[in-house]
Amino acid sequence: MNDIAALLKTFADVHGMSGYEDDVAALLRQELEPLTDEVTIDTMGNVIGIRKGQGPTVMVAAHMDEIGAMVSHIDDDGYLKMVPVGGWSDQTILGQRVIIHTRDGKTLPGVVGSRPPHVMDADERKKLIKIKDMFVDCGATGVANAAELGVEVGSPITIDRDLCRLGNDFVTGKALDNRAGVVMMIWALRLLKRKKVRATIQAVGTVQEEVGLKGARTSAYGLTPDIAIATDVTIPGDNPGVSRSESPVAAGKGPSITIIDAAGRGVISPRPVIKWLRESAEKASIPYQLQVGNGGSTDATAISITKSGIPCSVVCVPTRYIHSPVEVLSLRDLEQGGALIAAAIESAHKYF
Ligand SMILES: [Zn+2]
Repeated sequence: MNDIAALLKTFADVHGMSGYEDDVAALLRQELEPLTDEVTIDTMGNVIGIRKGQGPTVMVAAHMDEIGAMVSHIDDDGYLKMVPVGGWSDQTILGQRVIIHTRDGKTLPGVVGSRPPHVMDADERKKLIKIKDMFVDCGATGVANAAELGVEVGSPITIDRDLCRLGNDFVTGKALDNRAGVVMMIWALRLLKRKKVRATIQAVGTVQEEVGLKGARTSAYGLTPDIAIATDVTIPGDNPGVSRSESPVAAGKGPSITIIDAAGRGVISPRPVIKWLRESAEKASIPYQLQVGNGGSTDATAISITKSGIPCSVVCVPTRYIHSPVEVLSLRDLEQGGALIAAAIESAHKYF
């Protein structure tokens, strides 16, 4: 468990907002090099590791990007206004420490502030503070000083929060969506390292998932795999405020296999793919849960409708409070998710 915890910490603590995944890509490339025959980075920034076999070709897609924000304006006093990049909830970003990625490739800490409640009247205090009314204080004293610090319109902003262990096998951190998926993909390749595998594996770290599944779309088009597995996180129905009828899966009860997400507007996994994943899990004695999602979707949505269609499903780690700085998942689920993907790749030739 310590091995996978360390690997997750490495990937969760690195910063890579949508479109700015370079540092995550560099780390992933390093991990994939000893596990595959060749690693390339394509025009979009997708990291593609190929392990050659006889076939079929199985693409595993894990998005590398995390949600963040971008400096859109610097006011006369040096405060930064921002545009959210990806699906933030207004409530979770206020009061956070952030990292501003400066012009010279360095980083500068900042904090997200707002009009203080002390000066608000009773009515105003009841209202939700919107991201557009927040600002980042990075210590800059004016526009020119912000420029001296390397901060400018267009500087990416990410959340500053390092991974740490909670009780039992739970961990919390930022960007577990989707460094958990990246780790599952690496873990699967590690498990397969010394094994004979019939399938050709296309391990892809995709870019810009959080803003429209973009890297998955272009990489699937370029690679045209026979089948694909996207690997991501999914919202469990196990904590206060959600119910099992909203999400049938729970954190700590094993990885999930997606039957549908976004109520079918995302991916509808073809039955042969579900059969393949379930039977692979069962034969390897890996516990799994079936996910029927109502809300978000994943890279599988884009992959499944690439070219004339690519059979695709999703293996997820149930993760609480996603798109917040305090996402929570179980390390055992993560490890078993990697094992499930490995087992599926090993048996792919029997199904496709
Ligand atoms: Zn995700």
